[in-house]
Amino acid sequence: MIVVKNVRILGGEPADLRIDQGVIAEIGQGLSGGEEIDGGGAVALPGLVDLHTHLREPGREDAETVQTGTRSAARGGYTAVHAMANTSPVADTAGVVEQVWRLGREFGHCDVHPVGAVTVGLEGRQLAELGAMADSAARVRVFSDDGRCVDDAVLMRRALEYVKAFDGVVAQHAQEPRLTEGAQMNEGVVSGRLGLTGWPAVAEEAIIARDCLLAAHVGSRLHICHVSTAGSVDIIRWAKSKGWDVTAEVTPHHLLLTDDLVEDSPVGAYNPIYKVNPPLRTRADVEALRAALADGTIDIVATDHAPHPVEDKETEWSAAAMGMVGLETALSVVQEAMVETGLLDWAGVAQRMSVVPARIGRLTGQGQPLEEGAPANITLYDPSARTVVDPSAFASKSRNTPYEGMTLPGRVVATFLRGRPTVLEGKLV
Ligand SMILES: [Zn+2]
Repeated sequence: MIVVKNVRILGGEPADLRIDQGVIAEIGQGLSGGEEIDGGGAVALPGLVDLHTHLREPGREDAETVQTGTRSAARGGYTAVHAMANTSPVADTAGVVEQVWRLGREFGHCDVHPVGAVTVGLEGRQLAELGAMADSAARVRVFSDDGRCVDDAVLMRRALEYVKAFDGVVAQHAQEPRLTEGAQMNEGVVSGRLGLTGWPAVAEEAIIARDCLLAAHVGSRLHICHVSTAGSVDIIRWAKSKGWDVTAEVTPHHLLLTDDLVEDSPVGAYNPIYKVNPPLRTRADVEALRAALADGTIDIVATDHAPHPVEDKETEWSAAAMGMVGLETALSVVQEAMVETGLLDWAGVAQRMSVVPARIGRLTGQGQPLEEGAPANITLYDPSARTVVDPSAFASKSRNTPYEGMTLPGRVVATFLRGRPTVLEGKLV
């Protein structure tokens, strides 16, 4: 039994939590007994849930493993992650998703829910065994070719129809491939000045519009990964106004960073640390994404944690891999972009980083309100702390963060997974 003293649930009044046998047994004042942990007035949130994590295992264990990636998740306050399917081999069969699921059970510092590929080998030619993955021990409910777009409209339609049988969802990486051939950064004023091939907003927006229409046509669930443009927000707002079953995510980096960093930043011009898919966009896009996350047009924050080894990032811009790590900075970046700006309170953050992502992934036992009888999946967060981001302190195997040296607000103090601390005093247990 553990008693956590002096925490503020969703930033409310101070209270103590008694945790027993994996659940929150009691919430009250002056609780004692068992092992006592001083919460120090930290904000208590339901354990964070990430719908979009690249754990890289199997195949790229030089970048990340299930063990290091879930350590990174725990340090960031996460109690569950969805592991994307673009591994090697691709998670496109019951065998591979069960392998990832078992690795999570054995080595995971949080729950690991494998995402199944939509098409065999992510090749966009033939549907993968969606039903077999859904029926497997991993009980897959989220399917995505993330990293690539399911651009064939017939395949996308079939996938949306197929997942209805088991209440699954297709998570689309919206990128029209012909419009983004050789694309290096957001298409706009900065790409023009730098002479880099542009990545037009319409390449994302056209796929989102098409897929909203397809999902409505077949009456299925669509989730849109890493929305990055103001135009995408307008389309999603329109789809939701129709009552269609469409959800969307935004990454922390798209809520904070802009494409002019490619031209001018504290780490110089053309620094591939800012190379990411979808690309960083303009200030106007960032403002639209923040407003959409605040008003619920965009449902959740998902990290798109994309670890890469040094040699794949510290190279010339055109050759560098796309992606950023994000698990250990997500909550701080969301505080900076959304809480400090007055757009969200802590209850709003809990909805968008725990409750709703768990609902979209159809997880039970995650993303539940902190009340008596609920599973003790808890994140304790000190928003008054200030942290200079030091990638060498990351639990992730990779260091490709765009925030190195930046001072960000807040610090994860502790994380509990079904009552067991995975992080205490900011350190892995
Ligand atoms: Zn993606």
